[in-house]
Amino acid sequence: MAKRNRGKALKKLPAKGRGTCPICHRKRIKLLYERRTEHNDSLNVCKYCRDK
Ligand SMILES: [Zn+2]
Repeated sequence: MAKRNRGKALKKLPAKGRGTCPICHRKRIKLLYERRTEHNDSLNVCKYCRDK
């Protein structure tokens, strides 16, 4: 698979892939990783939260 979390691909994302992480509440961090919640929703989280 392509490196979809790097380089030019980020510029196509809303806010260039940045925002506030819903888990750790870091601001303007890159939210590049999708996580499934127990309700089967997908959340975009930062790299620090992807394995929690
Ligand atoms: Zn986070």
